[in-house]
Amino acid sequence: MEKRQQLYRGKAKTVYATDDPALVIMHFRDDTSAFDGTKVAQLPQKGETNNKINAFIMGKLGEAGIATHFVRVLNERDTLVRALKMIPVECVVRNICAGSMAKRYGIAEGTPLAEPIFEFFYKSDALHDPLVNDDHIRILGWASADEIGQMKALTHKVNAVLQPLFSRAGIDLVDYKLEFGHALDDPQGALLLGDEFTPDGCRLWDHATQEKLDKDRFRRDLGDVIGRYREVARRIGAPL
Ligand code: ADP
Ligand code: UDP
Repeated sequence: MEKRQQLYRGKAKTVYATDDPALVIMHFRDDTSAFDGTKVAQLPQKGETNNKINAFIMGKLGEAGIATHFVRVLNERDTLVRALKMIPVECVVRNICAGSMAKRYGIAEGTPLAEPIFEFFYKSDALHDPLVNDDHIRILGWASADEIGQMKALTHKVNAVLQPLFSRAGIDLVDYKLEFGHALDDPQGALLLGDEFTPDGCRLWDHATQEKLDKDRFRRDLGDVIGRYREVARRIGAPL
């Protein structure tokens, strides 16, 4: 598989074309950003750690019958994935109240939720990823009603696989963000899970101590960010 021109450079990953137009390479960099890119740092070993955690999680989701873009890991920092036309919304599921939901509704972080809560955000750093509802997405043309239904169903299905997986490792899956898209070579097909699942895009708390094991360590200057990501990998059995 030949790595060709850079297609997109995001805040943490770079996407490259390959010699197959239906496949792209996701390159995991050490760059870390928070607060819409206003706080940035290089965290040594982040790229390779997230590449490996992502591969392990995508594998588990695939085994559970959830269609993803993941094809195979190419090297320490590169993963081959199916090229997707991304839907510009972020799908968040919350099992425990934290982050922007705690702030928005004035609810203490750590408040358990009787059922998982689903939220959509419009993907736009310039607008600070605003919360949007089904009508915004459908009427503004970002996705159809059918795609909205698929995104919700798939995001909840991911919860049903990952909550017990983390729980068995003594970790609470507090919340997480997913992105979906259509394969370029199958634009009418079912949505595929894209992007990544790593501690950069979820909240993970040690069940016993409530210690944070995710990107909040970076956002809140708690230190040893990648040490804790690697601890997560070891605890869930993801080879590093
Ligand atoms: P951001 O764009 O938020 O700064 P990243 O640095 O993680 O985020 O960049 C990765 C980008 O690649 C994201 O915009 C994501 O939507 C996009 N992406 C993820 N998976 C695919 C895929 N399979 N095909 C094309 N683009 C993808
Ligand atoms: N999240 C993400 N990318 C974003 C926004 C949120 O990966 O652009 C993740 C975040 O890490 C958390 C979940 O989605 O696990 C919910 O985030 P929240 O809305 O609480 O926002 P935050 O407090 O992270 O700004």
